[in-house]
Amino acid sequence: MPRLEASRVRAACQRAGWCAVLNHLAGDRLAAALDRPGRHVACPVHGGVHGDGFRLFADVETTGGGICATCGAFADGFALLQWLFGWSFPQTLERVAEVLRLDPDQGACTLAWATPSRNVQRRVTLPQQRRSGTGATLERLWSQALAADHPDARVLHRYLAGRGLSAADLDPEALRLHPALPYWGQDAQRRSVLGGHFPTLLALVRAPSGAPVSLHRTYLHTHGQGKAPVATPRKLLPAIAGRSLGGSAVRLMPAGESLGVAEGLETALAASALSAMPVWACLSASLMQRFVPPAGVRHLTLWVDKDRSNAGERAAAALRDRLRPRLAVTLRIPADPIPAERSSLDWADIWQARAARCLA
Ligand SMILES: [Zn+2]
Repeated sequence: MPRLEASRVRAACQRAGWCAVLNHLAGDRLAAALDRPGRHVACPVHGGVHGDGFRLFADVETTGGGICATCGAFADGFALLQWLFGWSFPQTLERVAEVLRLDPDQGACTLAWATPSRNVQRRVTLPQQRRSGTGATLERLWSQALAADHPDARVLHRYLAGRGLSAADLDPEALRLHPALPYWGQDAQRRSVLGGHFPTLLALVRAPSGAPVSLHRTYLHTHGQGKAPVATPRKLLPAIAGRSLGGSAVRLMPAGESLGVAEGLETALAASALSAMPVWACLSASLMQRFVPPAGVRHLTLWVDKDRSNAGERAAAALRDRLRPRLAVTLRIPADPIPAERSSLDWADIWQARAARCLA
């Protein structure tokens, strides 16, 4: 039987992130500890009278380790899993490799992805000492991702071209492509299940101050022909501890005195293509309603999604009413009715239809 090399499995775990691996194999036992790495919770093995004997290390995302005051210290995720389940080391390697879909026959690790483009090595500014949680995940994924002009980012060009949009001038401080991001879904028992690896459009969400708050992910089809065939192709990380999503947006291009905002990334890019104004993406109607424009903006244009529940229009009206005393606000709502077979009509749809007509 082909042997799994421990170093290869360990490297794959670090790339995927140990929290995801532990969550998959031991999510029910480690739920409390995974929610708060570095903080004490009840020991998943011996329990304990005071319920505070165990903690995962603050750097669990890279090591997978943890410690119980009674049971002992487990330097890495393999030792931790052996202790939790009573598995041997080879058994543990096998289970972890299964989760990561590592094939023992294969010389190269299936998770291996391209080296990040040298021009996107600039690190995002995060609060100090964030070794786990959203801050660490964000920093890791962002540093692994490629700028749109990287030769290995062609899938992003294909995806946007399918929507009539160009990837030519995308700002690598706002949008990047992760070549192979694990997609975690849920099975019938609501346990995390690895659904595969997909090229993924990453969008950096910034607070009104400009500080990074979260990362939005759009999982793409392997060759960029639309979104990935998964239950939730768009996902937003929770806000970095101590920071709020309220007021934030994806700053797709520098704002001037005039700025537009839209809900979706594609909608914002389409609105900018239609109007030649900078347009940012708020990612949802509720975040659009809470948007806070940066200082210096005097005229804000809201590129509104038309949907059957009117959520987009209500959010835009609420934002206008909140900001109006201080700046000029214009609403742009699609004039056409929502097509019978659709639930919404946005400026990305309008731009795509126009681009299709131009090509016809
Ligand atoms: Zn214990």
